[in-house]
Amino acid sequence: MSRGIGQWRQATLVEVWLRDGTVGYGECWGPPALVMAFASLISEAYVGKNLFQAFSVRHGMMQQFYHVSSGLHEALAGIDIALWDLRAKVQGVALNALLGGHQRGQVLAYASAGYFDEHDDQAAFERDLADALSSQFTAVKIKIGRGVEDDVRRSAAARRLVGPQGILLLDINGAYTPAIVADLEKAVHALDPYWLEEPLPPQDEAAYAHLRCGRKVALGEAFHDRHPFKRLIAAHAVDVVQPDLTKCGLSEALAIRTLAESFGVMISPHVWGGAVGLLAAVHFVAALPPHPWATDSVAPPLLELDRGENGLRDEINLTPPQTQDGHLVVPTAPGLGFTPDARAIARFKEVG
Ligand SMILES: [Mg+2]
Repeated sequence: MSRGIGQWRQATLVEVWLRDGTVGYGECWGPPALVMAFASLISEAYVGKNLFQAFSVRHGMMQQFYHVSSGLHEALAGIDIALWDLRAKVQGVALNALLGGHQRGQVLAYASAGYFDEHDDQAAFERDLADALSSQFTAVKIKIGRGVEDDVRRSAAARRLVGPQGILLLDINGAYTPAIVADLEKAVHALDPYWLEEPLPPQDEAAYAHLRCGRKVALGEAFHDRHPFKRLIAAHAVDVVQPDLTKCGLSEALAIRTLAESFGVMISPHVWGGAVGLLAAVHFVAALPPHPWATDSVAPPLLELDRGENGLRDEINLTPPQTQDGHLVVPTAPGLGFTPDARAIARFKEVG
């Protein structure tokens, strides 16, 4: 991304056991050491509780540790996802049924690709992007944010590859100021990007509130709970909210969804972790009500499908969701539909 080149990924896989041996799976974003420090503090509180008492355990933890954010929220998010997986398994239904009901059997995915690397080679960028699209995706997101001239070069290549009817998304990772965003907007206007993602640093809510941008602004992967979303939505500073379920948890994401719906704002979860986080997002998007109300054919909800190399996503699930014509097929097995590959998980544990 524009702020630096990531060399590895990390995630924490959560298992929650019921007394009868049923296992629920969750995933936490970020450094496992940080997550595990909090997990050891909070996990005891869940022991002996039933699946519905667990809602108030999470609430109690957020009250007790209200001055803590990073680490705690991720640990709670992973446990929360695992508990939702269990609730659906106990009911014998796919998770989306509990998140508002099954709205669609497949979700439109955008290929998240076009990353920066050490070589900065335009031909290699285009080759990788073409591979990532592999002719079936009709939507693509690329990284920009290293100067407008370079942005135009990359964006033009991506537009050419995704085609004139395709959806082009540009992710700046918070690298610009409002003045540079104005230049960017002008420079890429003819390429018709569908949204600009994190054009400004996400912490600078005031700058977002004053940004005059003719494109949709997408934002939210850096937030841990509903409050920044509430402030930005109320200030009409965001068009697409992007909670990361492995940071917020599903319960909090449902609150963010209600906020978004109430203000006519779109929602598209940020997904950049492992197999469980991806499945949670697939079910979340599968359960989104049509937007606008009557139909989602105008603005179908989008699922982020990272196309970078990632064993935590591709190797630990024996029943990965299938890709079909640029869509992900929503699993129908009870719960998330995650089938852990114990050997692959052990391999990644050793790396971590
Ligand atoms: Mg992003």
